[in-house]
Amino acid sequence: MPLERRDPPPGRLALFPGSFDPLTNGHVDIVLRSAHLFERVLIAVLVNPDKKPLFTPEERVEIIRKVFREYPNVEVDTFAGLLVDYARQKRASAIVRGLRAVSDFEYEFQMALMNRHLEPTLETVFMMPAEQYTYLSSRLIKEVFSLGGEVRGLVPPIVEEQMRKKQRAGQGAGAQGAGAQ
Ligand code: ADP
Repeated sequence: MPLERRDPPPGRLALFPGSFDPLTNGHVDIVLRSAHLFERVLIAVLVNPDKKPLFTPEERVEIIRKVFREYPNVEVDTFAGLLVDYARQKRASAIVRGLRAVSDFEYEFQMALMNRHLEPTLETVFMMPAEQYTYLSSRLIKEVFSLGGEVRGLVPPIVEEQMRKKQRAGQGAGAQGAGAQ
């Protein structure tokens, strides 16, 4: 039986949800690829009260907004709760997720099918980043940075700048729990 589709909104919107703590060049790669495919891309920063982040959701939104300020079809917002509820509220056509390696697949596959169970008309679209970003994760960036490693070229310059600022403020990029929220 064919799926009953809701009327798609004018100008298809893709949601790109995640923690983005911090935004890496891997995320940027996926956003830019999505911005070619969809009329609008909404980067949705998950507000997760259980996690002790490096940057607050508001700081992440501000950073992401600056990074994509020259892309009028890329927007950023925060969300909490069920992603499918937020997607319905925004009338999104698709959820975009990045696939780095086989290791991402199992979790992503489960999530995509659960979201389809909850909202059958919402598609999940997987995209692969450029090869040089396949090993990048926010967690690894924080770890490398906190140990004094070079992150230039792996995150947008403004992210590096803000990480240094945090470090100088005595919060330490790797000091999970030191971030405000
Ligand atoms: P989450 O906490 O949901 O994993 P992340 O901010 O780590 O949030 O990731 C958000 C999305 O970006 C996920 O789909 C993840 O697979 C993708 N992603 C993260 N890092 C990369 C990368 N280096 N290349 C491509 N996609 C990535």
